[in-house]
Amino acid sequence: MTAATPVSTSTSALTPVRTRFAPSPTGYLHLGGARTALFSWAYARHFGGTFILRVEDTDLERSTPEAVEAIIEGMQWLGLEHDEGPYFQMQRMDRYREVIAKMLVDGTAYYCYSSPEEVEAMREKMRAAGDKPRYDGTWRPEPGKTLPAVPADRTPVVRFKNPLDGEVSWDDVVKGTITIANQEMDDLVIARPDGTPTYNFCVVVDDWDMQITHVIRGDDHVNNTPRQINILKALGATLPLYGHVPMILGADGEKLSKRHGAVSVMDYPAQGYLPEAMLNYLARLGWSHGNEEVFSMAQFCEWFDLDHLSKSPAQFNPEKLAWVNNHYIKLADNTRLAELVRPLMEKAGADFTSGSSPVPDLAKVIALLKERANTTHEIATAAMLFYRQPAPDAALLEQHFNAVADAIKPALTDFAGRCQSVEWTKPALAAMIKEVLAAHTLKMPQIAMPLRLMITGQLQTPAIDMVLELFGREVVLERLQKYL
Ligand code: GLU
Repeated sequence: MTAATPVSTSTSALTPVRTRFAPSPTGYLHLGGARTALFSWAYARHFGGTFILRVEDTDLERSTPEAVEAIIEGMQWLGLEHDEGPYFQMQRMDRYREVIAKMLVDGTAYYCYSSPEEVEAMREKMRAAGDKPRYDGTWRPEPGKTLPAVPADRTPVVRFKNPLDGEVSWDDVVKGTITIANQEMDDLVIARPDGTPTYNFCVVVDDWDMQITHVIRGDDHVNNTPRQINILKALGATLPLYGHVPMILGADGEKLSKRHGAVSVMDYPAQGYLPEAMLNYLARLGWSHGNEEVFSMAQFCEWFDLDHLSKSPAQFNPEKLAWVNNHYIKLADNTRLAELVRPLMEKAGADFTSGSSPVPDLAKVIALLKERANTTHEIATAAMLFYRQPAPDAALLEQHFNAVADAIKPALTDFAGRCQSVEWTKPALAAMIKEVLAAHTLKMPQIAMPLRLMITGQLQTPAIDMVLELFGREVVLERLQKYL
């Protein structure tokens, strides 16, 4: 076999574009997987191609239906819709067996009767001789070679007849040209003694059958690629382009793990992140378009190419994700935010049906608070003051009201009187407060502080005129009456 011709890197040459996301359902959808899915999805969208979801569930011990659910749920939350699938490898067993049978007939695969002990012994011998351990080819048929007698009572594995000479080379769209000598590679077991196909083989048959044009995946699969290419070639398949995206690392340069915060995509909605923020953030992990930091998915799909994928690992930065989330919170529709925030507040004991008095409109409260919130949880925490009975701290009330009641009480009484008739809008309330201050020669904090305490129970609130407007005339008067 001669050296492989490198595959062209021309990204639009292979049309129609067909990409896939091929998760193994052994856990949740993690950030690295979501990013790979995003890149594959965006690439298909960029070229008007097809994005396929394929569940690689052949590892029966580690795959669970819950993990399949979790992955699909994560993809749905992100809005990464697949055009085909989900295909399940466990439902394609007949097809893999069919291809294996054909390869046995064609002579690109062979039965190997070496026992695991024998294989281990030959590997040990090679190790001792300082060679790379590999299968020694005992059962590999060659012209003119006589194979050993088939041992009784032994079920064979099927091995792929890897080329002995030459090399495999591909132009990785991320890493550049990668070349591996065929001598480095074993005759891979493609079917176990019970006939079940092995991992790399299933991937190959799927990529072939599903006519995948671009394989974008994590660089933990680089070592599988030369084996997969050799099998694809033996099958006479057109080779896809490969792009191996570097890992996502934590800020400390270590592989991303729980220590760095949430690694499951679905932990993010639970922590108050918006899907568009997550997508935008993930898009920038290992890909760039000039200095653009915030962009829509439509924009991303238009820009996304394989030429600007980074060769070096991206670092996960939770502060930047929070910043991006704040950006999208500010843009988000307040009614939508209210739907996200409301259950969080209910859990925290917010009262949205406070007796007969009306409660402030949550969407309006959110409009006031969201500017400074990095998550919907932060909005919920800040919004609580509008939905619970005030319980001002006695010491603060003493300081800001009782101890200075001689000066302050007449002004507050005046304020409450004017509240009966003032137009209940922020500007009218602001003007009215100014008049009260002037009439009683007081400064803003002298009246704003006790008002905040009496109405909200706390000293830290948004601007008092805004707070008053949101609570409404009825609630404000009701709460002031207790003190005046
Ligand atoms: N199932 C593999 C994984 O979850 C991905 C295989 C591939 O993309 O080729 O890591």
